[in-house]
Amino acid sequence: MTFAIHGLAVARGIAIGRAVLVASSRLDVAHYFIEPAQVSAEINRVRDARDAVVAEIRRLQTSIGHMGPKETPQELSALLDVHLMLLQDQELAAGVQHWIKDRLYNAEWALTSQLDVVARQFDEMEDDYLRERKADLEQITEKVLRAMRGVSSPLIQPLGRAGRQTSQQDLLLDDTVDVPLILVAHDLSPADMLQFKQSVFAGFITDVGGKTSHTAIVARSLDIPAVVGARLSSHLIQQDDWVVIDGNAGVVVVDPSPIILAEYGFKQRQVELQRGRLARLLHTPAMTLDGQKIELLANIEMPDDASSALKAGAVGVGLFRSEFLFMGRHGKLPNEEEQYLAYRRAVEGMQGLPVTIRTVDVGADKPLDDTLRDDAHLNPALGLRAIRWSLADPAMFLTQLRAILRAAAHGQVHLLIPMLVHAREIRQTMALIDHARVQLDNRGVAYGPVKIGAMIEIPAAALTLKVFLKYFDFLSIGTNDLIQYTLAIDRADESVAHLYDPMHPAVLRLVANTIAEGHAQGKPISLCGEMAGDVSMTRMLLGMGLRSFSMHPAQILAVKQEVLRADTNKLAPWATELIAEDEPMIKPQKTD
Ligand code: PEP
Ligand code: MG
Repeated sequence: MTFAIHGLAVARGIAIGRAVLVASSRLDVAHYFIEPAQVSAEINRVRDARDAVVAEIRRLQTSIGHMGPKETPQELSALLDVHLMLLQDQELAAGVQHWIKDRLYNAEWALTSQLDVVARQFDEMEDDYLRERKADLEQITEKVLRAMRGVSSPLIQPLGRAGRQTSQQDLLLDDTVDVPLILVAHDLSPADMLQFKQSVFAGFITDVGGKTSHTAIVARSLDIPAVVGARLSSHLIQQDDWVVIDGNAGVVVVDPSPIILAEYGFKQRQVELQRGRLARLLHTPAMTLDGQKIELLANIEMPDDASSALKAGAVGVGLFRSEFLFMGRHGKLPNEEEQYLAYRRAVEGMQGLPVTIRTVDVGADKPLDDTLRDDAHLNPALGLRAIRWSLADPAMFLTQLRAILRAAAHGQVHLLIPMLVHAREIRQTMALIDHARVQLDNRGVAYGPVKIGAMIEIPAAALTLKVFLKYFDFLSIGTNDLIQYTLAIDRADESVAHLYDPMHPAVLRLVANTIAEGHAQGKPISLCGEMAGDVSMTRMLLGMGLRSFSMHPAQILAVKQEVLRADTNKLAPWATELIAEDEPMIKPQKTD
């Protein structure tokens, strides 16, 4: 039966394919495809882990047997019996083997997929006692996963899908061999998303997440259609279901009828045509009708993204989110050499164009590691994040600073500091940058000059720009956080996503003032939040005086098209009027 789920549009385009469900993030595990030759090793990995847990429970039962009835409540023995029974359940084992053999899922993914299947069966049980056994099942799964940790397989590119039934849609699309895959999950961490960056998913859907959550940002950088905040999608969509993602409207259509499929197929071709038209602008200089030169830069997450930035016509990298080098490493941070080589790769990849490397910004919705997610802090977005984290661990920060300074010997590097708010933080940061240089001098290691900039992403910083302009060579406006902190809206929380509004007059005033004050002092001002790549905002930002935009490479040509049609002389008075309105709204422009 065809039905639709509504969520938030985060990455444009249409994707049509089969659903691949990944387990809920409650049990955060790696998800990747294995090679056929690894099937038996993966099955053994689960079996060995399960046997280890069984042995552990048996040991516990024996030690309980030596205790008196007072010290061992009856419930405990009964519980251990239930756990043993579940662990040895044939259906669970057969299910896990199916995911590994037929789908080539890695062991952890297979186990959590089967957990989801069996958990659903428990949910449907009438008997309260049996229904509650779901919690036991989750506990033993966690135990097996823990036993498996440390015996992981290498990350491998996804392969073909085996064991799938041919459906009506398969026949309709005449594409039974290589049907695109759509990832469906309750939640995905940014680190998970990076892993998927190397894979072949044609789109993705999550139950949770806001438009500028870091997961959404990485999806946009992958340039694949995505919908987040599509509540319950991971429950409503079944493994292998046909789904359509309408990334423009934020809608997911499940089990589409042939007519709907044909309609989306047509829309998909339109999107392709539009892309083709934009590609013609690749070598056109980004200049407005009145001759203003506009700098269009790229936001990247990994050094190798430099090539897509170049291909998209970026004239530099305006934001390299270095934290992605630090994530998913089980707490083992990259050392100076590793970081230096990564930054150098990005710098050399840009072939002489400038690269703005932002120092690590972990915390909030960018945990270092899924397994290290820190729920102890109630407001992680207000906690030890970004520069606060760096200043709290000077040795780690100095390591990163030395690596960036060394990479600057190979090309133009700008050093960008996130989340600064106090003058004393600025002074501490500057002192540490000086200290990093002294350390390199003492070691006799070569390094290059860097321009130093600050992110303006906290309202307090935007309201005390004078201090920032005194210390920094350039500023970059981080609207993703600026909106979050100005409006007190968690950017990752879909339940308040309707209030996360870039057009709130308070946000617009902070952005416009930052641009104006910066330019008055002759300092370069860029904007690297998601607003920079949103074509509906381009004219307004040009009207505010912005001349440097940093965005996902995939957005550059669409923004360039807006720039080419703009006349800043006309846009400036319009933008001033717009900002003064109680509820500013941009009327949609006619586009081709
Ligand atoms: C921002 O806050 O706008 C920004 C660019 O930084 P991030 O999204 O990484 O927090
Ligand atoms: Mg930010």
